[in-house]
Amino acid sequence: MASRRPYVGGNWKMNLDRNGAVALCRDLAQETLTLDAIQIAIFPAFVHLDAAHATLALAKSNVMLGAQDVYPEPDGAFTGEISIAMVQDFGANHVLVGHSERRHVIGEPEPLIRQKTRALIEAGMTCVLCIGETLDQRESGDTNAINESQLRSALRNLTIDDPQRLVIAYEPVWAIGTGRTATPDDAQDAHKHIRAVLADLFDENTANAIRIIYGGSVKPDNAAELFSQPDIDGGLIGGASLKPNDFLSICTAAQETSRAEGVST
Ligand code: PEP
Repeated sequence: MASRRPYVGGNWKMNLDRNGAVALCRDLAQETLTLDAIQIAIFPAFVHLDAAHATLALAKSNVMLGAQDVYPEPDGAFTGEISIAMVQDFGANHVLVGHSERRHVIGEPEPLIRQKTRALIEAGMTCVLCIGETLDQRESGDTNAINESQLRSALRNLTIDDPQRLVIAYEPVWAIGTGRTATPDDAQDAHKHIRAVLADLFDENTANAIRIIYGGSVKPDNAAELFSQPDIDGGLIGGASLKPNDFLSICTAAQETSRAEGVST
């Protein structure tokens, strides 16, 4: 994993009420204090950002706060949307873009994903850009082609000053929330190809500094093997991020991998 600091994100999706979100933040804040070799971010629903921010701040937690989406325009007549400045105001500095549920359930188009990615990078936010193939695409042997086209579309004409602020989450659609996980070898192959595309889009050094994380039914019992692959720099965790013990085990696996590989903190 060279010198990339592992990144573990908890995507809470449309789950938890306010009390549940605060309780989960409290648990995580306490238990993650020693996990200093990795970067951890949680992504609660918009309406819980304020309470999550206050809870993490009170506990002096290192856990970063993220939003599950933003709209790329700064303000205006965009009913129902939330701007980057609005989520920043609530302490969020990481944002998910292009999650498969937004692409495939909500129908978010690629040009909008590109606009969001650009707006976040320009605002100095950490953008976690999600890409990945459907089952049909995998079975047709198109995994790398799909990842490449989603990457090239989202990152077109983008300049990256700080590679830490772009995280790519490779999430095969068929593995999200299904209990099916890509094998470590298959995931590594996809990540290696993604890094090669990043090198072509930016340059070798930038590509080597960008974290590429895996998502899709990561659990305590498969995290360590996935994270020990050379191009897998952590994970984006859905279901297991709602269970504090599971999420902490996954974070610990990332921390141990980073220690074994000598990542400087
Ligand atoms: C996700 O929502 O990004 C995800 C990977 O979900 P799960 O871990 O539940 O598959």
